[in-house]
Amino acid sequence: MQYFSICRAEVSCTAVLWWKLRSIAVAIYAFCLSSTCFAQQDLPAQFRTLEGKHVRIVTDMPLDDDLAQLPALFDAAVPQWCREFGVAPSKVENWKVTAYMMRARERFVREGLLPTHLPEFPYGFQWGDEVWVSEQPTSYYHRHLLLHEGTHWFMSKHFGSNGPPWLMEGLAEWYGTHRWSPETGTLQMGVIPKTKLEVPGWGRITVIQSQLEDGIAPTLELILRYGSRAHQDAEAYAWSWAAVVFLKHHPDSRDVFERLLDQPMRPDMSMTRWLFQRLRKRWPKLRAEWQATLADLEYGFDLELPMVELSRSSAASDEVRLKVAADKSWQPTGIFVKRGDVVRVNASGRCIVGRSRRDWESGPEGVTLDYYRGRPLGELVLTTLEPLKQEPERSSAPQLIPVGREADWAANASGEVLLRINERIGGLADNSGHLDVVVTVARRAP
Ligand SMILES: [Zn+2]
Repeated sequence: MQYFSICRAEVSCTAVLWWKLRSIAVAIYAFCLSSTCFAQQDLPAQFRTLEGKHVRIVTDMPLDDDLAQLPALFDAAVPQWCREFGVAPSKVENWKVTAYMMRARERFVREGLLPTHLPEFPYGFQWGDEVWVSEQPTSYYHRHLLLHEGTHWFMSKHFGSNGPPWLMEGLAEWYGTHRWSPETGTLQMGVIPKTKLEVPGWGRITVIQSQLEDGIAPTLELILRYGSRAHQDAEAYAWSWAAVVFLKHHPDSRDVFERLLDQPMRPDMSMTRWLFQRLRKRWPKLRAEWQATLADLEYGFDLELPMVELSRSSAASDEVRLKVAADKSWQPTGIFVKRGDVVRVNASGRCIVGRSRRDWESGPEGVTLDYYRGRPLGELVLTTLEPLKQEPERSSAPQLIPVGREADWAANASGEVLLRINERIGGLADNSGHLDVVVTVARRAP
């Protein structure tokens, strides 16, 4: 599903003055509203209100159970935003936003609840202490948009800005993607959905995987360079989310990313430059790790599992013995090869490839009861990843070389040799055991 949200930082630099003038108008408008017409009794009959501690919902939709949960959802989110952004709960004690959940937009315009001078927004919009969300086909997506716009609201109140476009929309998507249990009032923000059914209407992972497959996936730098208009394309939300998932969690970038949020929050590129300067030495390695992570970024991507990481130095010998765990993604060998070198892999042992109904025992050749990416499930596979000194034209998934019990592979690319068993990332967590592997490399004569 297409999703579009126009936010304050998305206006172009040339339009900043225009927006400042507009903000004065909106402030006057907000003052008028706060002094006149928010009480339930003053709203026309077709509007209903729901009160929470930190949110007042105003809607023209029928008050079903899903809508009735929104104040509790939002109030559960506020302490989590406080923790994530290091804000004392006492500071937000009196913070409250008005959220308009709109079925018929013209009703809100008619009653002065949606200023006509705001830009068109098909899905959601935040300005000051107000957010607007258009009616969606699923209750998940109502909640998602409310948390997305709520993240903008919280950040703009705390930081005075939402940062550059990739950070602003990436963080809003990160905190918007959630699990919610209305029975217990438990809210998990910042999750990777296990299945598509968990997040109806969201679609970010589908966009990422299909663009990767079509060879049109943007580079990490391109995402970080997104301008103020980039998010007029729905794909930019998916890529901003992916960049935040990666930079926030990868061992090579998470410390710097955490400190990024302590910097003055500005909508221009100064924060991105700050981040890049601190990661400059690690950037070639990060470029390669980003590409491997993207290929894994499917439903069920497990943040508890180690993310793909290249070795910092090469192995002392051209022969390495290692255990390849069945429950992890690509595992580095420390063997760095050049194009034309011949890599020999010998593997033995058995591991468990967990399935929902029963466990399957698998050797290095895999089991032919099921396939993933055209190869037997559980088969030992190989790839190479090389730190990239130059920005590539686009992001691309690592090639996948079948190994099985033994293989000789004439390297057609330089880089470190990595190994894993062949299974989608969401299926790895219930595996167990390992394969015993020997990797040797015959160097091409100079
Ligand atoms: Zn947004």
